[in-house]
Amino acid sequence: MTAAGSAVRPAWLNAGTRTRDYLEARRALDEGRPVHLALGDLPGARFWTWYGGMVRPELSRRTSAAADPSGSTAAAPQFPAPSGRVAVWYSSGAKSTYTLARVEHLRPTVLRYEDYEPFLAPYRGEGFLPLILAAASAGMGFSVAYLGVERNDLVVGAEPSTWRHVERTPAFIDQWNHFHPQHRLRSCCRDLEKEAVVAALLDEGRSFSSCHRRRSGWCRDCHGCLEAYYSAKATGRDIGFRLTRSVFDQVHTGEYRPYVASDFRRNPRNDLQYLVRLQIVHGLTFEPDRDCEGEG
Ligand SMILES: [Zn+2]
Repeated sequence: MTAAGSAVRPAWLNAGTRTRDYLEARRALDEGRPVHLALGDLPGARFWTWYGGMVRPELSRRTSAAADPSGSTAAAPQFPAPSGRVAVWYSSGAKSTYTLARVEHLRPTVLRYEDYEPFLAPYRGEGFLPLILAAASAGMGFSVAYLGVERNDLVVGAEPSTWRHVERTPAFIDQWNHFHPQHRLRSCCRDLEKEAVVAALLDEGRSFSSCHRRRSGWCRDCHGCLEAYYSAKATGRDIGFRLTRSVFDQVHTGEYRPYVASDFRRNPRNDLQYLVRLQIVHGLTFEPDRDCEGEG
């Protein structure tokens, strides 16, 4: 099944819904404004205390997600009662492709962010999707929503700009589930690191694309293609394409080498440590003569 895309704003995003309240609160934190969220239940308030403290600790003292502030919970919006249905958020990337393959027997509803992007993008900013997707599928009443979130022990760094990356970790799923037990998140690859996910997909012959420019296939010239290429190379797999020299020079020469030379401090996107880990764990080598071809 596939959720139909629609140009009509879904009802679960209307003002006064819990999904809308969550998205507004996330946007406030993203923009550096404190959150003042009135919730009808203590777990929801505690979730926001945790999330706000993780991503914007400097705002946490000014942030209040209060349960039952008026003595009446009736006015506070709730997520719909769980329907028993299962969804999977699918993007054609490695992790969601792996996840969908593992849960197909559950006959899940396949949700695509693109179908809701016109309505959700204003709340996304420069940030990540897991909280937005969690609030959306909870707002649709799904009891379980699968997300492709992999193990990543190095994701949260010392730079404040990296703290939002916590959304992309199993810790986020655990915290969400602890406070929203009726609308749970699951990931089938939470114990696997990214290169293991890529290796499994290649070994199983499953088509996927992590390209930032194409929904299918590979442009060979973006960060997504570079990361997928070296994920495969690290475990001895051939992903079936070579990189452009320009993206190699941009990432390896322009970012990776300065990152290493800076004692791992200069990490503009908080993802260069992934390449470091591939080098340490798998002995990955960067070989432009082998890794690159053509002009792209
Ligand atoms: Zn690409």
